[in-house]
Amino acid sequence: MTQNSQVTYLKDYQVPDFIIETTDLDIRVGDEYTSVVARLKVRRNPASSEPSSELILQGGKGIKLQDVMMDGLILDESNYDLNGSELAIHQCPEAFELTTECLIQPQLNASLEGLYKSGGMYCTQCEAEGFRNITYYLDRPDALSVFTTRISAPKASYPILLANGNPVDQGDLENGEHYAVWHDPFPKPAYLFAMVAGDLVRQDDQFTTQSGRKVDLQIFVEAHNSHKCDHALASLKRSMLWDEQNYGREYDLDLFMIVAVDDFNMGAMENKGLNIFNSDCVLADPATSSDAMFERIEGIVAHEYFHNWSGNRVTCRDWFQLSLKEGFTVYRDAQYTADTYSAAVKRIDDVTVLRTHQFAEDASPMAHPIRPASYIEINNFYSVTVYEKGAEVVGMIHTLLGDDLFRKGSDLYFDRHDGQAVTTDDFVAAMSDASGINLDQFKYWYSQAGTPTLAVTDHYNAINNEYSLTVVQSTPATAECEVKLPFHLPLRVALLDTKGKELPLQLQGSEPVLGNNCVLNITQAQQTFIFEGIAEQPTPSLLRGFSAPVKLDYAYTEEQLLFLASKDQDGFCRWEACQRLLIEATERAMGFMSQASHYQLKDSLVTMLRTSLVDETLDPAMVAKLVQLPSEAYLAETQTIVDVDLIHTAREAIRLAIATALESELLYCYQRCHDTGVFSQTGKAIGQRALKNICLYYLNALDQALYQTMAQDQYALQANMTDVGAALHILIGHKNSELAAPLLADFYQRWQGDAQVVCQWFAMQCGASRPGLLGQVKALLDHNAFDIRNPNKVRSVVGSFIRSAINFHAVDGSGYAFVGDMILKLDGFNPMIAAGLAKPLGRFKRKTKDRQQLMVSQLQRLNQAELSKDVFEVVSKALSAS
Ligand SMILES: [Zn+2]
Repeated sequence: MTQNSQVTYLKDYQVPDFIIETTDLDIRVGDEYTSVVARLKVRRNPASSEPSSELILQGGKGIKLQDVMMDGLILDESNYDLNGSELAIHQCPEAFELTTECLIQPQLNASLEGLYKSGGMYCTQCEAEGFRNITYYLDRPDALSVFTTRISAPKASYPILLANGNPVDQGDLENGEHYAVWHDPFPKPAYLFAMVAGDLVRQDDQFTTQSGRKVDLQIFVEAHNSHKCDHALASLKRSMLWDEQNYGREYDLDLFMIVAVDDFNMGAMENKGLNIFNSDCVLADPATSSDAMFERIEGIVAHEYFHNWSGNRVTCRDWFQLSLKEGFTVYRDAQYTADTYSAAVKRIDDVTVLRTHQFAEDASPMAHPIRPASYIEINNFYSVTVYEKGAEVVGMIHTLLGDDLFRKGSDLYFDRHDGQAVTTDDFVAAMSDASGINLDQFKYWYSQAGTPTLAVTDHYNAINNEYSLTVVQSTPATAECEVKLPFHLPLRVALLDTKGKELPLQLQGSEPVLGNNCVLNITQAQQTFIFEGIAEQPTPSLLRGFSAPVKLDYAYTEEQLLFLASKDQDGFCRWEACQRLLIEATERAMGFMSQASHYQLKDSLVTMLRTSLVDETLDPAMVAKLVQLPSEAYLAETQTIVDVDLIHTAREAIRLAIATALESELLYCYQRCHDTGVFSQTGKAIGQRALKNICLYYLNALDQALYQTMAQDQYALQANMTDVGAALHILIGHKNSELAAPLLADFYQRWQGDAQVVCQWFAMQCGASRPGLLGQVKALLDHNAFDIRNPNKVRSVVGSFIRSAINFHAVDGSGYAFVGDMILKLDGFNPMIAAGLAKPLGRFKRKTKDRQQLMVSQLQRLNQAELSKDVFEVVSKALSAS
């Protein structure tokens, strides 16, 4: 068995044989070598089932071990074994102090895991297994220890020295060096360790907790970004208050710090008291960040803050439990965003991500349950499944329990497990114990992968006023499990009368339903629910609020969809009805395309879109969602065989047909929403920008100089990044690529000093939905601003290119070959980013035959190379499904 194919299984979990009570680190930052002295107070773990006297610590490839001491005595090599990634100390007593001294070279660490250098600063990323690149350690999430960290470095280059917890000491040393000592009183696993040494400026604020404690809030950034911190600080304070009000969770240290770092593999990291953020996920300014980025940043700041309880105070027992902290925290940040912005729009956005990306993962060779049973490389499981589907699963518990019992459950969970490393079973047990609701069957959501389909049929009996719904659930086989047991899930429904009013509900054999919509407990493969006292044939409003992560299959008639699209009180269902109509229209267009005929929209659809566009009483953010075309990626998800060219052409045809039919309404709506006054970020202003930019997008399908000029003028106004970005996006997608060229040059000229905006510049060009982009994308790799070692740049060029389906899936295979080349280049130094790019190559199953072959042959080519275990896992799983 090679190193690459070693699989870790959940079933093999055992508690650690040793406990590290305290960890004292002395880290001396140096130009050539950084020295790390770790003094660990260790004792045997009484809970260990097969106690061993051998302590095994993990260490990364780049560590040079200098010395090992036990209780002050230097050990010779007969007392320990060092084999690559493991340091085994023999004959350990019951309790002892172990000191190791290591040398590392963070400036050479391009994997960005552990301690590394980003620009002029040193910083860390230790989740999941990065700490072992700093020193030999029990690098597993159930090994909790109290950390004290002393950092020393040259003061002129690194005036700021930070670590977790509270500052306890600092001072100057000889030779222009200085030091700082930090102590974190809360025991934590090594993945939550962080340190920073750099030349940074600080923005300050303060928050008073509900019990009256004052907490200092500090954001550290490079000097040229100091004007971009206000939004994150305001978001942080709102999140702190929200978590107190909604979950009763108060912050626990005197200080909360955020540091912005340019080179970062992930979005952000919740290290105790010292969050480290990808610059792109924290810095915001209206001139450089769109409304969507503002909202995303607020959500990420909230997410990382919420982890202080859901993740840090209560952490994961092992990495199979990742969804324990991520699913729950994504759910919490989604609730926060829903409360802060528009709840319906947030739900629609989240469902769109889930159905486009998570459903695709569930149908791919990398499909896994939210609690995987095995992995080769855990970094591959920081996935939409663990995060977004994990959040849906927590949301379903909330729906099944109701608000009060869900809160009781979360209180019990935090009280019962504070300071512990626990499992998703513990989470569900707390919810079940607090509510008295049995969730045993519900737990299949944690162990079975795949997206269930709910096939719903109905019958109305006018003689005895009964309406019945029959629900059949089925889940396709996935690699980990052929036959699925039925899931327990909440199906929220309402029944609408002919005016759109929700009917009172009385389920046969149960109490009357309070309110006019109810949650049906789906637990069996097939179930029938009978509603009594229904005086007329109702229209069912099903899966309200998208109450479960499933595919709903109910044969709505066009008439019913039109009715729901204008009458349903549930924002999600109303939007869903519009989407279904637009998807059906696109599918009809696809039929016409293959016969090369001309395509026309149905009048009913035009009327529905017109009604939304002209209704000035509706929330403009919601109208923007209602009239928006489904993305090519989502359309692909709805097809049995994915023909990317046909989807692209059909979608463009629908866009043109809508613009032709509704030109004057779109123009009026654009003008009505185009506010040239003072910039504002109210919900209304944000909604108006979204709506107006959709109108501009439609109008530019007409290929008229008038609308091109409108887009050019909107760019020239430079009012804010939402408008500038939308105008550029529209012109870049235009078949006449000359239109965008001068604006792109201007944009770069204007923002070349701002890495965050330069990434947007890359992404807009590489992700354009216009065929024949590859040459341009390759040329951008040679641009001075591109840096293959910076993950944000790689994502904005290669990641965006993959999202441009017509280019990634070009029939000559050139897109696949390009991505294959990039994976091989990146895998040599940043396997995590390389593996992320490899996942889309594995999704060949429903592609046309010619493309399937090209994708598989690209995977075979990768498989010939020397791969990291990250990429190996993705490629080998994909090939075994071919
Ligand atoms: Zn998280």
